[in-house]
Amino acid sequence: MSWKTEGIVLRVRNLGEADRIVTIFTKDRGKLNAVARGARRIRNRLLSPTQVFTHGRYMIFPGKGLHNLSQAEIIHSGQIIRDDLEKFAYASYVTELLDSMTAEEDPSGQIFPLLAATLSLGEAGRFGLAVRAFEIRLMRELGYEPELYQCLHCRESLKGSVFFTEQGGTLCEKCVGHVPGSMPLTNGTWELMKRLLEWEFSRLTVLHPAHGNEVELRRVMRRYLDYRLEYPLKSLEFLETLEALGPDI
Ligand SMILES: [Zn+2]
Repeated sequence: MSWKTEGIVLRVRNLGEADRIVTIFTKDRGKLNAVARGARRIRNRLLSPTQVFTHGRYMIFPGKGLHNLSQAEIIHSGQIIRDDLEKFAYASYVTELLDSMTAEEDPSGQIFPLLAATLSLGEAGRFGLAVRAFEIRLMRELGYEPELYQCLHCRESLKGSVFFTEQGGTLCEKCVGHVPGSMPLTNGTWELMKRLLEWEFSRLTVLHPAHGNEVELRRVMRRYLDYRLEYPLKSLEFLETLEALGPDI
């Protein structure tokens, strides 16, 4: 029995002479891998819809190992992202991060809209902000929501100096010595984290954080994510080079 699904292409690998293996993050079944036969041939109808970052509708025939992708139709091509080096670097990071942190066919209702909204905000020119929102919200969806209102160690409300631990939350001054992997968090960056986590995604465009907060947030999120990642991301080195070049959020 085949099924129809909507998804976004996270990754594409070549298979044999003319085929592709595509990793798609779908709305209803989470991440899945499927073979698109002949998809690298110029006139093949699967050629365009199986490009990375494409949002489309896909017909899947289940297989024992890999599924087969038989039909596809584009909802949003992702061409604007593929044509721009900086956007491509950000989107590659987003899709690699998601791929590395999710298991196959493990449905999670909120991750697909988060991915679509992130790529859309990025395509509109706000990738610097979109990736930070993606990171913190993805952690919540995966069960690692950061504690941002109390000290993770003593559970008291935070006053004055605040710290953040890579284990996923804020700490007070008294407890910072008890938790490894902690770093200071300025009030501006702390507030920014709360907004990125809690505001409606469409509202985030009104945020224009100071460069210092942007840099600090990037560093804090990196430690927090790396603590959970099993291997370093290939897309990160290039993205970090681009981010170091200037204000982009
Ligand atoms: Zn404490």
